Amino acid sequence: MPSLTDPLPHDPLGESPRVIGHYVGEENGPLVVAIGGIHGNEPAGVAALEQLFELLREEPLINPGFTFRGELLALRGNLEALRSGRRYIDTDLNRIWRHVVRGVDDSYPTVEARELDGMLAAIDNALVDSPVAEIVLLDLHTTTATGGVFSITGDDAPSLSLAAELGVPVIKGMLSGLQGTTLSYFRSGQYDLERPCRAVTFEAGGHTDPVSVDRALAATVNLLRSVGCVRDEDVSTHHEETLRTSNPGVPPVLELVYVHRLPAGGRHGFVMRPGYLNFQKINAGEILAEDADGPIAAPCAGYLLMPLYQNQGDEGFFIVQRYEGSASY
Ligand SMILES: [Zn+2]
Repeated sequence: MPSLTDPLPHDPLGESPRVIGHYVGEENGPLVVAIGGIHGNEPAGVAALEQLFELLREEPLINPGFTFRGELLALRGNLEALRSGRRYIDTDLNRIWRHVVRGVDDSYPTVEARELDGMLAAIDNALVDSPVAEIVLLDLHTTTATGGVFSITGDDAPSLSLAAELGVPVIKGMLSGLQGTTLSYFRSGQYDLERPCRAVTFEAGGHTDPVSVDRALAATVNLLRSVGCVRDEDVSTHHEETLRTSNPGVPPVLELVYVHRLPAGGRHGFVMRPGYLNFQKINAGEILAEDADGPIAAPCAGYLLMPLYQNQGDEGFFIVQRYEGSASY
C-alpha cells in the first residue's frame, strides 16, 4: 500500500501526472469523475484512486465475470500543491469555481486557476466522442482533526440519496455555506449543459490516518456500485463495514447550522482550542477558540465539524445538528 508520505509517483499507469487512470467499460453508462488532492495536503484520495486502478487491473484476472458499465476517470487535483504538501499555493482550489474562464490563453492569475483548467481539460478529453449520458463527480478530501467521515452534497433528493449510498453521515446545507467549490460548479450544470450531473464530496477522516485511504477507496467503490458501474456481486462487503464503523452514534443526516468564517487575507489571530474532534458534541456557549478579540463561544449546541488545526483555511469551524426533517430523501 502506498504510504501517505510517498512522493507523487511518476507516470504510474502510463497516463499523465494529472490522470491517475481512465477506465472505459465494455457497456455504456455514466462517466464517474473521481478527484483526489484538490487540496495538496490531502493525498489520501490520490492514494485510494491509485489503489483502485490496481484493483481494476487485477479484477478480470481473478473474477472472469467482472463487467464495468460506463467510465471512470480518476484525477489528481492540485498537482503543484500535492508536490509541496500544502493545502494550496496561491489560493484555495476548492473555493475558486465561481468565475471559471476556460482556455483564453496560457497565462493564469494563480497556480490554482491553471490547475482548475487542467482538470477541466482532462474531463473534456475523456468526453470527446464519448457516449456517456450522465456525469457523476466524486471529490475526495480529508480533514485536520481526526474522526470526521461524512459526505456533502446538494439538498435535492437525487444528490442526497446518492450521498447516503456511500454509507456515512450526510451533511445537508454545506453548499450554501461554502462558495466556489468544485461540488457547486459541477452540480449547477456550468460544466456540461447537456448531460445531467450529480456531485458528492467525501471526507475520509484525518489527513495522516492511513485508514483514510481505505475509507476513500471504500466510498469510491460504493459510489461505483450505486450508479451501476459495477454489480453488487462484484463488490466485497468489507467496504460497507469500513465506512459504517467509522462514526458510531452520529445521526445519518445532519444539517449545517453555523460556519465560523475567518476574515479574508488574515486570520485575526484565530487559534482553535486543542483536542477537538470531528462530530464532537458541543454545548451553546462553550469556548471553542480564541482570536485577537478574545474567546470565541459556540453560538449553539450541536456537533463540531472540521475544526481548523492547520495554517491554511478560510473557516475556523462548522457546527452541524441532527436533521429533523423527513428522512425519506
Ligand atoms: Zn480538502
